[in-house]
Amino acid sequence: MPSITIWNEFMHEQAESDYGKLCRKHYPKGIHAYLRRVLRPELEGCTIRAVSLDMPENGLPDKVLNKTDVLVWWGHMAHDKVPDELVDRIQKRIFGGMGLVVLHSGHMSKIFRRMLGTPCTLRWREIGERERVWVCDPAHPIAQGVPETFAIEQTEMYGEPFGIPNDGHVVFMSWYAGGNVFRSGVTFQRGLGKIFYFAPGHETLPIYHNPAVQRVLANGIRWCMPANGVGDAPVCPHEREPFEPVK
Ligand code: ZN
Repeated sequence: MPSITIWNEFMHEQAESDYGKLCRKHYPKGIHAYLRRVLRPELEGCTIRAVSLDMPENGLPDKVLNKTDVLVWWGHMAHDKVPDELVDRIQKRIFGGMGLVVLHSGHMSKIFRRMLGTPCTLRWREIGERERVWVCDPAHPIAQGVPETFAIEQTEMYGEPFGIPNDGHVVFMSWYAGGNVFRSGVTFQRGLGKIFYFAPGHETLPIYHNPAVQRVLANGIRWCMPANGVGDAPVCPHEREPFEPVK
């Protein structure tokens, strides 16, 4: 049975402040628990775990990570609290075939920047403006069942230039009321592993309650599933004998 692990830093939702209260209004038990619940019907036949930074071994001990086929990542204020040693283990597993879905402010996470090798910076603005998401590649598996365009009434703006490498395949593009545009849904492959980044998902707004967004996430997770399970990261085998006789 394919195994999905939803990792959340789970700090905004536990904050004592009014900001924390606002996050709990939409995600009372945290974004990870909410996503696990709403994505379950869409991902029938998969095991879905929800884990967080405050758990032992930051939620990802070997016994969890080594069973994970697709890792979903939501982080924002605690990127630095993720140990480099954990990032090494995740990277190795992605090279071996594990999928990675990076959400919203995870663009600055250690693991996303490690995998892409670029700054992954962007422009941002938090005034609750309208976002319109467009499907750029209707043939892509992640776009199946997603309206060709849909609106998110209130969002945090993420705008270009987005510091990602040019091998990213753009599946979704967003326009914002304030005039900015953004490559809001992009795929990559690193080693044997597939990566999907999706921008909408600010913690104080009910964006993950949107059915079109939920469909994108479920499709993204399915698309990132390794075709043949997760194996060892590729190595450099020394080829002692040629396949064809060499004269
Ligand atoms: Zn945000």
